[in-house]
Amino acid sequence: MSDLACPPLPPTRMRHRGDKISEQGDVSALCFKRPRAIDMQRASWVLSDSGVTCAKCLRVIRARKGGAA
Ligand SMILES: [Zn+2]
Repeated sequence: MSDLACPPLPPTRMRHRGDKISEQGDVSALCFKRPRAIDMQRASWVLSDSGVTCAKCLRVIRARKGGAA
């Protein structure tokens, strides 16, 4: 991968799976026990499962798909 292919985000900025959106437009992550706005200074969020880098979110996604309900 070349330098040009690197994403503009620093590697420490994890990507949650976007879950709930408040009336104010704040997005909550799938891994949050209670819905609260994601700190966009420290993290980001995506709506596609493949772009998620948050380990907790991935675990929730996998649990849902695995039918471990
Ligand atoms: Zn997360």
